[in-house]
Amino acid sequence: MLSKYNPPRSGLATTPPLETDHRTMVPPPVMPHAITRRDDGLHLEWVAGGHAALFPARALRLACPCAGCVEEMTGRPLLDPATVPQDVRPVRLALVGAYGLRVEWSDGHDTGIYTFRWLLDRCPCEACTAGAVPAGSA
Ligand SMILES: [Zn+2]
Ligand SMILES: [Zn+2]
Repeated sequence: MLSKYNPPRSGLATTPPLETDHRTMVPPPVMPHAITRRDDGLHLEWVAGGHAALFPARALRLACPCAGCVEEMTGRPLLDPATVPQDVRPVRLALVGAYGLRVEWSDGHDTGIYTFRWLLDRCPCEACTAGAVPAGSA
């Protein structure tokens, strides 16, 4: 009795598509090289020894993107800047996955998550504010 012999398919059954993926327009993930908490703000070093910036504390606090500070549907700011102390400072940082940072502020607010992409888009360094450096850290 003959048993049919099916040779294993050589190599991979599927070849990868020749074209690279043009479907997704998702920007590459952003991950700073170093994050330093300072009393005057957050210092982010995007690239080791290179692109870096200090995000001033109060401006960052006022820009908090959490649902308590910004109305989710409309983007309308709910936070009254008058309620944020002039000398507000970050007291604790926590990484959120690999994409962002949760900041605990000296005024007790700790629900804002700043994604690295969000921060990079608002990078206050001279090069970025002058538009000389394309957004993108690597
Ligand atoms: Zn907030
Ligand atoms: Zn920059």
